[in-house]
Amino acid sequence: MTPFISYLNDLVSLLYPNLCMACSDHAPAHGEIICLRCQHKLPKTNFHLEKENPFTERFWGRISIENGAALYHFIKGGRVQELIHRLKYLGKREIGIRLGQWYGAQLKQSEQFKAIDLLVPVPLHPRKERLRGYNQSALFAMGMAEAMGKPWMKNALIRKAFTETQTHKSRTERLENVLEVFAVNDSKALQDKHILLVDDVMTTGATLEACGMRILEIPGTKLSMATIAIADF
Ligand SMILES: [Zn+2]
Repeated sequence: MTPFISYLNDLVSLLYPNLCMACSDHAPAHGEIICLRCQHKLPKTNFHLEKENPFTERFWGRISIENGAALYHFIKGGRVQELIHRLKYLGKREIGIRLGQWYGAQLKQSEQFKAIDLLVPVPLHPRKERLRGYNQSALFAMGMAEAMGKPWMKNALIRKAFTETQTHKSRTERLENVLEVFAVNDSKALQDKHILLVDDVMTTGATLEACGMRILEIPGTKLSMATIAIADF
């Protein structure tokens, strides 16, 4: 952000107090991004409280994971969609970090997630990340790692090419399509570690599965997954 833009931002927030990033109706408490009402109303999954849950079930017969959970249910037209939209497309980096801190604090209390050694975000293609200026999943991972008191590693995985439009493909075709584009950047750093793979929204799980397969190819690794939201498909 240039000093001028930053000055303008300060001026705007002085004139118009920040509104909740989820509902745009109420003002959040100082330093928060979401109002108290939304903090209560956002559809938490609480999946992290159960070892087997709808998140982990989506990977049955596909890939072996230790634990899996999503912070929220993704509902079309709902507040969580609004949050994700602002995080991905409107430059609101703080949403990723803050949600990560919240979820990290919850996972820290969970017996199942205590064994995690390292957090690794699903990478964006470098060109896409340059355009956006950041990787939203990395921001979420960073917030989580901070709250969990665990290390995270931004470039443990790399995405090698743009994935072509997948809307009209079957799950198997989609998986093949994604498989070839992820690679491990530093397998020494991941060896013998229990990795928490982090993404923004889980839909079919094809991306998480493709990344997870690369991680499990490294000797001694265990795999868990966490996302901001889980969507139906
Ligand atoms: Zn709100």
